[in-house]
This record gives sequence, C-alpha cells and structure tokens, in this order.
Amino acid sequence: MQPRIGFIGLGIMGKPMCRNLLKAGYGLTVSNRSRPAVEEIVAAGATGAGSSKEVAERSDIVITMVTDSPDVEQVILGPNGVAEGARPGLIVIDMSTISPSVTRRIAETLEAKGVEMLDAPVSGGDKGAIAGTLSIMVGGKEAVFNTCLPVFQAMGKTIIHIGGHGAGQMTKLCNQVAVCLANLAMAEALLLGAKAGLNLERMLQAISGGAAGSWQLSNLAPRIPKRDFEPGFMVRLQQKDLRLVVAAANELGLALPGTSLVHQLFNTVEAAGEGNKGTQALVKALERMAGFEVKGE
Ligand code: NAP
Repeated sequence: MQPRIGFIGLGIMGKPMCRNLLKAGYGLTVSNRSRPAVEEIVAAGATGAGSSKEVAERSDIVITMVTDSPDVEQVILGPNGVAEGARPGLIVIDMSTISPSVTRRIAETLEAKGVEMLDAPVSGGDKGAIAGTLSIMVGGKEAVFNTCLPVFQAMGKTIIHIGGHGAGQMTKLCNQVAVCLANLAMAEALLLGAKAGLNLERMLQAISGGAAGSWQLSNLAPRIPKRDFEPGFMVRLQQKDLRLVVAAANELGLALPGTSLVHQLFNTVEAAGEGNKGTQALVKALERMAGFEVKGE
C-alpha cells in the first residue's frame, strides 16, 4: 500500500511538488504558515491540516519544504511541530536547503523518538519542481532512502543517495557554488554581448549548445533582455545558501573566492531592494557598475 504523505511548506517549490505527488496517486495532507496556499492544494485534491503536528499524525512520511534552518527546526521540533505528532516508524524528509550541522542535530533528536530522517535538498528550480524533474541529493540511512525512493521519483529525475545525515545538504552547498558562478558567467557574457550591440537572442542560441552551455544560460539569460526578474529562485534565498557555503568553507579552513565575490555582488542587489527578485537579478549589480542595461531588440 502507498504511504500517506504529509507536506509542510507550500511556496514556489512546495506547491508544484505537491501537485506531482497527487498526480502519482499519493494521499496527501498539507499545511503552511499562511492559509491561501493550503486552500489551493486542497482544491487540487489534498487534505488540509491546521498544524505540523496534525500533518505528522495523519502521515507515514512527512516532507518539509520551508525556508531556512530555524524554520525547519520550528516545524519539526517546535510547539505543535512534527515531533509532537510523530510515532515510531514515521519518516521525516527535509527537502529545504539548510545547514548540514542543523540537519544532523534534528536527525539525532528524531532518532531518539524512533523517527528516521533524510535530508534531501533539491536543484532544478521552479521549472524542475513543476516538471517533476528535480535533482534530489539525499543524506541519511540507505534503507530509509530505498523506502522513500518511489516518493522521490514522483518529484524528481536524478535522485542520488550521497551518504549519512547531512551529506545531502553538503552536496547542495557544492551545487550552489557551481550555480552562483555559472550565473555570474551568464551575466557577464550577456552584458558584454549587449554593450557590443549583438543580437542577444542569436548570441545565446550560438553559445548555449557549446562548451559555455549551462542551465543559467538556457533558462535565465533569455529573461534578462525582456527585463523579466520574476523569481524562480529568489536572491534572498540564494544569499541564505551562500551564507551556508561561506560558513562551511570557514569551518573547513577553505578559500572559495569566486563564491564570495558573487555573495558580495548579491549584497548590492539586496541593498537596492531587489531581494525578492529572481537570481538573474545578479546582472543588475554588473549593470550598475557599467552604467548600462541589457535590453532586447
Ligand atoms: P518560498 O516560496 O519562500 O516558500 C517557503 C514556504 O515555506 C512558504 O510557503 C512559507 O510560508 C513556508 N514557511 C517558511 N517558514 C515557515 C515556518 N517557520 N513555518 C511554517 N511554514 C514556513 O521558498 P521556495 O522557493 O519554495 O524554497 C523552499 C526551500 O527550497 C528553501 O530552502 C530554498 O532554499 C529551497 N530551494 C528553492 C529553489 C527554488 O528555485 N525556488 C530551488 C532549490 C531549493 P508562507 O507562505 O507563509 O510564507
């Protein structure tokens, strides 16, 4: 019999992930801090719950997809949280991007109650969440991973068990290093092309399929000449992740100069009041330095 799924956190990512779980036939109970998102997913076939505790009581597997480490701690270990509604055998999967050390601490606390946890952050953006093609990087026990694999397959395509608790989150931080530098590369290429007067659509078409190709070039770059800065992934969330990267690098005594540069450039984007824009707004930091904007034909 299919496990009953609970889902907490119905934002840009959580909502489409829920729709894919419903499409795969799972019974789904959902909750969120604000109510309208719950009503939307209930209209799509889920059952609404008033608290994280209630979600846990009605589920075999509870997925959390909230914002940052304190939010995950709150919905799992806080008052009226998952742990209060948990029984031995429950599995908690946190798919938010949070600190690897906080993940390990939550997993230990849950283990003492007979509750298993996986950290399973994702990559692929809102597009991947909608299409059900997310990359999912998982930390925790292999047997628990195997139990949850069909659930992951309803939401993602590349699903890899990396290692023990926290290994999924650490992998996600590696992912964010690569992503933020690809974003900078995309933004600089676009700025150069625009300032030189190239037809940007053709320039992007020419370079996207070659050695310069990247998700950022294919998915984010075409939005910039249209001045479309709507978020797939918000600047303030990227900054949250880069703070986690810098903290991990500091703990390990590592220099990550490229990542630190992008983190600083994003500070200027946030200072301009653009923290809720999509990460393609990185180009605005460069545009302000250039005194020039990337615009379409
Ligand atoms: P989002 O749109 O801001 O959604 C977060 C959701 O969590 C919101 O529905 C929010 O409720 C809820 N929430 C936050 N804190 C809460 C708390 N303390 N208690 C209860 N509910 C809480 O963010 P998102 O883009 O979906 O991202 C979610 C996670 O996935 C983040 O960790 C992010 O870094 C990661 N991620 C995002 C992307 C992406 O492209 N967007 C890609 C990969 C990974 P409200 O509706 O009340 O605000």
